[in-house]
Order: sequence, then structure tokens, then C-alpha cells
Amino acid sequence: MPERVIIIGSGPAGWTAAIYAARAELQPLVFEGAVTEENRMKGTLPLGQLALTTEVENYPGFPAGDLREYLKSALPPERIPWRDPEHTHGAVTGPELMELMRQQAINFGTRVITDDIVEVDFGTHPFRLKSLSGERYEALAVIIATGARANYLGLESEERFKNRGVSACAVCDGALPRFRNNPVVVVGGGDSAMEEALYLTKFASVVHVVHRRDQLRASKIMAERALKHPRIQFHWNAVVEEVLGDDERGVTGVRIRSTVDPDEKTEIPCSGMFVAIGHTPNTDFLRGQVETNEKGYIRWIHPHRTHTSVEGVFAAGDVADDYYRQAVTAAGTGCMAALDAERWLGSKGFE
Ligand code: NAP
Repeated sequence: MPERVIIIGSGPAGWTAAIYAARAELQPLVFEGAVTEENRMKGTLPLGQLALTTEVENYPGFPAGDLREYLKSALPPERIPWRDPEHTHGAVTGPELMELMRQQAINFGTRVITDDIVEVDFGTHPFRLKSLSGERYEALAVIIATGARANYLGLESEERFKNRGVSACAVCDGALPRFRNNPVVVVGGGDSAMEEALYLTKFASVVHVVHRRDQLRASKIMAERALKHPRIQFHWNAVVEEVLGDDERGVTGVRIRSTVDPDEKTEIPCSGMFVAIGHTPNTDFLRGQVETNEKGYIRWIHPHRTHTSVEGVFAAGDVADDYYRQAVTAAGTGCMAALDAERWLGSKGFE
């Protein structure tokens, strides 16, 4: 018997789709991803990008507060993420939020498999899927919620300081104490980099933008706003060669190298480096079977609906969104995808 709905992905979009699909009695099966070294390196472990962040202060419903007793009552003991004992009145953390969403989906009957889907055949119906461990599955409807991963520079020192000063999300991490009243560096010259730089001016003493060319890729309005900001300083024709720091303090600076004169190197003291050089949607396993836009993100074929180019296949969250990329918007589209899948299954007479 084919599954009614298979959901691929375990970020806010995947779990919200599962909560809605389970409550609609579709008995969803979620592939939350495999725990492999390759996934760890790529930033695609189960629970997605939020599991890589620290505090989440902008997810509605989680103002700052002492969550310890709540977490103990809501989650099985083995799934409670480690919490700094000092962290009693901060916001919910990314890993906690994801565990809570996962548990909520399970509470309504969602089944979860800790494996990757590595191959799909959407050319036949029921759809066929194959997992990394070699198991085969069939589904009447599929919701793709595999997200996107932030691009990083690929430096060893950058890897070492992830979560201790190196971040790819100013909106997620910018307000943390380590960045307040300290200089920070933003890498990139697109709209994301300008947006991150402007956002960080709320907290940082000065924001250094390091861009590899002497012209910004960002839209004119964003570029102008950043260029005229008194606390944003641009370093043109420069790339980050190394992130500097130590185990105790995390990031303490970056060394940049000129792209014009490779001998010209400068050290910028800072408490953090924000990488804003684009994202890559996690769509490799689809091997072109679902239509994407020019940047590789899955295309919704009707505005404000989650239907993809394959009837019966829906997409939610960052894999179909290169613009908002927020936990709450991903959760919203996860809900939409489950409702769209339920209605589609009903319209085809699949009970
Ligand atoms: P993007 O437009 O692709 O810009 C990426 C930037 O990173 C470019 O400046 C690029 O340099 C630089 N870069 C790429 N790889 C690099 C590397 N290995 N080392 C150093 N620099 C590197 O990506 P984005 O800024 O994330 O924007 C994505 C899309 O979302 C765009 O369409 C953007 O307009 C949109 N967006 C809009 C808003 C807004 O309107 N508020 C906000 C955010 C994003 P080069 O310029 O030299 O290629």
C-alpha cells in the first residue's frame, strides 16, 4: 500500500506540514534526514538550519522566559537539547524549537524515519522514492521541505568558529550579547549582505563589509542605504583569508587579502563574521524532475499555492523561497502544503 503523504525534510516547513497532515488523518511519513558526516559538513542534518542556530527571538509564541520545566514536560528526556544552565530567561533556542515541533507532529501520529531520500521517480504514480539506506517507498502525494543551506567561504577557521562568532544569519544571531557594541564583519555584496549589515548597525559598534569586487550586486536602494550609513565601512576588492580567534573567546578578528594586490593584507578586529554570499536549495535528489527557477529553487506554479510542476508534489519552506527565508514563513507554507495535498488527494478520490 502506498503512503498517502510522504514529507521530505525536518525544518519548520516539514514539521508543520506533518502536524496538519496528521490532524487530517493522512498518517504522514516524514523523512527527517540521515545523521551522516557529509550532512554535518553541508549543514543538512535532521532538524535543518534552525538546529544550527542559538536563540530564536522572532518566532511568535516564545518570548523570553524560563523554559526548562516546559521542555521537561513536553519532550521525552532523551530528546531535550542541551541547555546552558545559566540560560534561564533567554528565548527558546533553535534546537529546542525544532524538537518541540517534531514532538508536536509525533503527538498527532506522524511517523518519522531518520534517513535521507536520495532518489525519486515522479514519472509514475504512486510516486517512488528511495532512501539512503536502500529502502523503497511509494506515496500518493509528496511534500518537499528540504530547505536550503547557507553558502560559506569554505575556510577551515570559519568552520571552527561556527556558532562562536561565525554566522550566516544576522536576523537570527545579530542581537546576541557577543555582537553588541563590538565591531562585526559582513562578507558579500548582494541584497542579503546589505540587509544584514544594516540590521547589524542596531547592535554593533561598526559593521565592516568585505566584498570581493569594487561594485555591489545589491539593488540600488539597498546599496545606497548601506553606503551612506555612518557606521558601515566598506572594504572593496577584498576576501577573507582567515578567521582569527581562540577557544575561549571565539572570533576576535578576520584577516583580509586584497584581490588586486595579494600581498596587501589587513586584520580587522571583530567579535563576529556574518557570511552573506547566497544559499543553495537542497534539491540534488530531485535530479531535475520538478521545475525550478533560475536560481534552482522549486517553482510554485500558482501564486500563493504550493503546487509544483508535478501534480501531487508540493513544496514548502526555503526550498521554494529564496526571499523571506524565516522559520515562521517556512512553517506557514508547510501548513499550506499539507492543506493543498489534502485537497488534491480528495479531488482525485484518494481517501
Ligand atoms: P546574491 O545576490 O547572489 O549575492 C551574493 C553576493 O555574495 C555577491 O555579492 C557575490 O559577489 C558574493 N559572493 C558569492 N560567492 C562568494 C564567495 N565565495 N566569496 C566572496 N563573495 C562571494 O545573494 P543574496 O544577496 O543572498 O540575494 C539572493 C536574492 O534574494 C537576490 O535576488 C536578492 O535581490 C534577494 N534579496 C532581496 C532582499 C531585499 O530586497 N530586501 C534581501 C535579501 C535578498 P559578486 O557580486 O562578486 O558575485
